[in-house]
Amino acid sequence: MKITIIAGARPNFIKIAPIINAIKNKQNQGFDVSFRLVHTGQHYDKNLSDTFFEELNIPKPNVNLEVKSGSQAEQTAAIMIAFEKELLQNPCDLVLVVGDVNSTMACSIVAKKCNTKVAHVEAGIRSGDLTMPEEINRMLTDSITDYFFTTSTSASENLLKLGSNPENVHFVGNVMIDTLYQNIDRIAAPDFWQEHQLNEKNYIILTLHRPGNVDEVSSLIELLHGIDTLVDNKKILFPIHPRTQAILGESEIKFKNIIFVAPQGYLNFMYLIKNSFAVITDSGGISEETTVLGIPCFTMRNNTERPETETIGSNTIVGTSLENLQNVFGEFLKNGARKSGIPELWDGKASERIISILLDKK
Ligand code: UDP
Repeated sequence: MKITIIAGARPNFIKIAPIINAIKNKQNQGFDVSFRLVHTGQHYDKNLSDTFFEELNIPKPNVNLEVKSGSQAEQTAAIMIAFEKELLQNPCDLVLVVGDVNSTMACSIVAKKCNTKVAHVEAGIRSGDLTMPEEINRMLTDSITDYFFTTSTSASENLLKLGSNPENVHFVGNVMIDTLYQNIDRIAAPDFWQEHQLNEKNYIILTLHRPGNVDEVSSLIELLHGIDTLVDNKKILFPIHPRTQAILGESEIKFKNIIFVAPQGYLNFMYLIKNSFAVITDSGGISEETTVLGIPCFTMRNNTERPETETIGSNTIVGTSLENLQNVFGEFLKNGARKSGIPELWDGKASERIISILLDKK
């Protein structure tokens, strides 16, 4: 079986690493399976791309489509044009896409129109919020996917409600968590750990990059000032996404507790999360990692496509207002974290399951 794997953006790289490891394991066991890795070039900053390939031992892509940034339509169109040429030159049995970025949707459409089967890893999750480009990517990708691999029973149910063939909907667990388990012994403190006097539980991690939170500069600054004074005795470590940095510009804003640092590599970032007091974020992936690491997570969004992180107790959906954050966080400081646990099948074996199922479909 020839599989073309698509990766375009930071969260994709983290998700494909264990899938590639699982393919290599099958090859070592004598199975007839090979892969071609296509990097669409959606994320091209070293900090968001190369670092992850190096740290997670992901092979060099066979091709980089180098689409870079652009508006939603420009980027999606550029990926489609470039990937169509690539797929016609290098046909395969299956195109495997992960997550919910523009590359996920664009490459699925191209594959399907070239009569190539599509497998979607992390299928079926829904926030119900069509103001997020990711939600549109999820819906469109799932509408033409052949083989669905889900992280939760609720994601599988979403797909079944939409009429997907139950024989092709597979609840396998979470590849992002496979990566976490595969690398947990390698995580390491970043160089600035001592310089900023970080210690276990004396800091909060902050990440913000979704348009709703960062696109309006004055509300972003107001939110940051509010977060700066949320707790007296904790530093706030903010690995700032290039998108957010571009909006804040180079302006020197004085904060008491917030420490701005560059986007972190995976091994440093997981170390920072694991040792933090709490996490405030608008990321979906981070709320999964905090769930497994047992770190209280506060999501600055009105919804989540990962409801299991909330029902299990580790993730609290705050909304986007500072006032809500102050209330919810105040409650947490007073009463402590909610009891939490690890969702079903988030056991580090999702990628193995995916490749075994695909080889059975042949
Ligand atoms: N991440 C990282 N360094 C950082 C911020 C994030 O390694 O400075 C990792 C982290 O593992 C997270 C993943 O990148 O789960 C995806 O984060 P992002 O917020 O970009 O994507 P989302 O989960 O919102 O799709």
